[in-house]
Amino acid sequence: MAKLIITIAPTGSIPTKKNNPNVPISPDEIIQTGIRCEKAGASIIHVHARNPADETASTNFQLFKEIYQGLTQETNLIIQISTGGRAGMEYEKRSERLTLKPEMASLTTGSVNFPSSVYANGPDLIKSLAMDMKTQGIKPEIEIFDVSMIQNAIDLADQDLMALPLHFDFVMGLKGAIPATIENLVHLKNSIPGNATWTVAGIGANQLPMAVHAISMGGHARVGLEDCIYFRKGELASNEQLVKRIVQVSEIMGREIASPDEARKILGLRPQMK
Ligand code: ZN
Repeated sequence: MAKLIITIAPTGSIPTKKNNPNVPISPDEIIQTGIRCEKAGASIIHVHARNPADETASTNFQLFKEIYQGLTQETNLIIQISTGGRAGMEYEKRSERLTLKPEMASLTTGSVNFPSSVYANGPDLIKSLAMDMKTQGIKPEIEIFDVSMIQNAIDLADQDLMALPLHFDFVMGLKGAIPATIENLVHLKNSIPGNATWTVAGIGANQLPMAVHAISMGGHARVGLEDCIYFRKGELASNEQLVKRIVQVSEIMGREIASPDEARKILGLRPQMK
């Protein structure tokens, strides 16, 4: 079984310091969190930006640039920039940050109802973002909120809009998206091409159990305050604490942890220009 790739999703678009004081908001806080999480065992960081003034999700290119440059200088982490639309749905805003040419970026291949909004990703938008990533050598992490999104991604690959092998992230347990059950995880895993890699992001209390299933099934794991602000019931988490726990569980289960460079090989990322 390949070594385990741990992705840290430290910020997202939703939780604020009021919810959990450990949520990093400013570029410097996100960079410092990245440093600590790399030490703890993460090899990928999934990046969102926030407006430092009011903590809301931001599409500001300068913020993404500052975070990207800081993480590149201070860590060896694989930087995966979110093209998610909670901060703004327009294609231009979501694609601008790809000009930083991160090694990876997230790409959601369908629409889904979030608890109080529609996360709209129409066919043309998906195609345009996929094309941007392909031409710039950015590996997409395909965000799967429902089974149909897998077929959409395979269709894009068939149209030569995505480099192979594909890499998926199963986002499970978010209200409106696929429920976090073992049966659903097995079905998702069996629905992707045989040579594809996958990770799972369990939302809320699903984070730990879904990560444990992934460790035993040969998948990879994403943790972080974007997906769950608690360490256990009633106890707030820090990002590095969530990474450390997955490292401990994986070691107990006999699966080694991938370094960032080992993760680059497993995922087939473009050669480093550093
Ligand atoms: Zn995200």
